[in-house]
Amino acid sequence: MTALDLSSPVAVIGAGAMGAGIAQVAATAGHTVYVFDMSEEALERGISQISTFLARSVEKGKMEEADKDAILGRLHKVSTLEELKPAKLVIEAIVENLDVKRKVFGQLEDILSDDAILASNTSSLSITEIGATLKRPENLVGMHFFNPAPIMKLVEVIRGLATSDEIADIVFDTSVAWGKKTVFAKSTPGFIVNRVARSYYGEALRVAQEGGADYATIDACLREAGGFRMGPFELMDMIGNDVNFAVSNSVYNAYYQDPRFKPSLIQQEMVAAGRFGRKSGQGYYDYR
Ligand code: NAD
Repeated sequence: MTALDLSSPVAVIGAGAMGAGIAQVAATAGHTVYVFDMSEEALERGISQISTFLARSVEKGKMEEADKDAILGRLHKVSTLEELKPAKLVIEAIVENLDVKRKVFGQLEDILSDDAILASNTSSLSITEIGATLKRPENLVGMHFFNPAPIMKLVEVIRGLATSDEIADIVFDTSVAWGKKTVFAKSTPGFIVNRVARSYYGEALRVAQEGGADYATIDACLREAGGFRMGPFELMDMIGNDVNFAVSNSVYNAYYQDPRFKPSLIQQEMVAAGRFGRKSGQGYYDYR
């Protein structure tokens, strides 16, 4: 077992839907966790999201009050990347954009110790490509959680071409130690789940675009008859339509515009209108 020692601090960059959940998972496992977001408001929201989740767990009798307090005590908001220096594992969960991720990892390399592990929660971008501009690409690995991270069991650990086996193994074992069902995947576009899920969203969007049925009917069919926990439109609204559209574009372009992965104009319209789903109050459904 080569899981990261519990005395090793972890850092999470981005306190949005995913970052907050990942920080909660790491702090629940027993690590000291530093959380950074470029938006102070997002950072506050992320920490309060964790607090609310844990308070509900106490109310439901799933957690002791003292454990909730201990987890919250291990979480530390920081306002500069420099404060992440003690971290041995940094998990990035910021915007799904290659250049932005490369820039942040580049800055981190100058701050962290040489053996610190850099992990990206990217849904679809190539770990090889993110790592290509780094000084130590062997330290970069994909650690892909699912939404909501404290509840969803799966983590995909992705090796880029340069990722060292040792780093990939530590992250794999750490994920297992954090209670996750963990699988290795290569750095192919969308990895395993997001690749296969493109069809779930894509075909549902095509049915809607052709006027075959409305969103609620399609969702009901997949949920009630198909046995899926969520229909494609409610799931996209939970993921965030901005995030899901970025993933659709990234997979489509990575496969040289293969028509199987073509993003939908409906998605484009949703994003253009700022209808990102639950987080913005409106998406395929109205949450206001
Ligand atoms: P989000 O929009 O909810 O949160 C992103 C956060 O990152 C925001 O709070 C933003 O302020 C912050 N941020 C953006 N650029 C930053 C920077 N340069 N430095 C510091 N903070 C920055 O997005 P999300 O849904 O949490 O997605 C984050 C990442 O996780 C993306 O790569 C996404 O593809 C991936 N992901 C998302 C899901 C999902 O279901 N939403 C699932 C798995 C993986």
